[in-house]
Amino acid sequence: MNINILTDFEVEQFCRIVDASDKIVICCHQNPDGDALGSSLGMAEYLRTMGKEPLVVVPDAFPDFLQWMPGTERVVRYDKYKERVDAVLAEADLVMCLDFNTPGRTDKMADALVASPASKILIDHHLDPDIDVEMKISQPEASSTCELVFRLIWQIGDFESVTRKCAVPLYCGMMTDTGGFTYNSTRPEIFFIISQLLTKGINKDKIYRNVYNNYSEWRMRLMGHVLYNRLVVMPEQHASYFILTRRDLKKFHYVKGDAEGLVNMPLQIKGMRLSISLREDTERDNLVWVSLRSVDDFPCNRMAERYFNGGGHLNASGGRLTCTIEEAEKRVREAICNFRP
Ligand code: 5GP
Ligand code: MN
Repeated sequence: MNINILTDFEVEQFCRIVDASDKIVICCHQNPDGDALGSSLGMAEYLRTMGKEPLVVVPDAFPDFLQWMPGTERVVRYDKYKERVDAVLAEADLVMCLDFNTPGRTDKMADALVASPASKILIDHHLDPDIDVEMKISQPEASSTCELVFRLIWQIGDFESVTRKCAVPLYCGMMTDTGGFTYNSTRPEIFFIISQLLTKGINKDKIYRNVYNNYSEWRMRLMGHVLYNRLVVMPEQHASYFILTRRDLKKFHYVKGDAEGLVNMPLQIKGMRLSISLREDTERDNLVWVSLRSVDDFPCNRMAERYFNGGGHLNASGGRLTCTIEEAEKRVREAICNFRP
């Protein structure tokens, strides 16, 4: 099976840039998900086997259910160690930008990233990349950035040296970005890649449990609250939404990551094509986080762009509103009723 993604010239270019670089920084988007963190850790481990000493930097905290991944103990958070990361970015030879398409997706880290004089390589699967880099590996049809990192290593011919510590995060990111291989994963190549990763001794069932069967009791109760008390279903529009207020979050002892995946659940209702969640920020007033999920050809990323200052993928997107939660709810109802792709 041919899983190459680059031209020979590009492979050479990638290897040349990496070879020439001593100080390598790997970074991903804010609120890192399994793919953002997985691709960063997988790439870092790969580069380590190549004799490099990369530093993985994330804009802010990642959820508890990713903490188990090998290598997380060495990740540096920008929101905690701004000065250190600013200095590292200013001195880097190479910055790898994984799983995001514009500097803005790194939030407060964006200025330091853009200002860094380092060579930059983008590896990403979001639409419309808009970032100034020396080398751009952008493939929106890929399931995940982890898939692209695997393909890259494979095409370079370094699969032999991939360790279990590299394979685990790469598998994890492919799994989380496809909802456990239930969407965005019908291309046969992805199963070829999985079969190869399995040869490295990864335990895919354990990885699944680490991510999905690792909820706190409170997260489970929050889910019950959302489904029983908060879900608004609009059958004629084949859409539904729910709101999580700051009070809800407090009541259910919310910690980062607890709301992850809730937005997918209403799509289990027969006939649903669109699900939207609204979550009040726990600290900043008038900031509401929006997540959208859709099925088939419903472009929820276009809706996120038009109504929620965001974007993302065809079936999974997000954004934010700077208004009260009541105004945000009005906006959601307006979007559901008026949006024509
Ligand atoms: P989530 O709902 O999990 O926060 O985000 C779902 C998807 O939408 C992710 O792939 C994420 O990269 C993308 N996304 C979330 N927020 C934004 C945003 O503000 N802008 C863009 N372009 N994509 C977003
Ligand atoms: Mn991704």
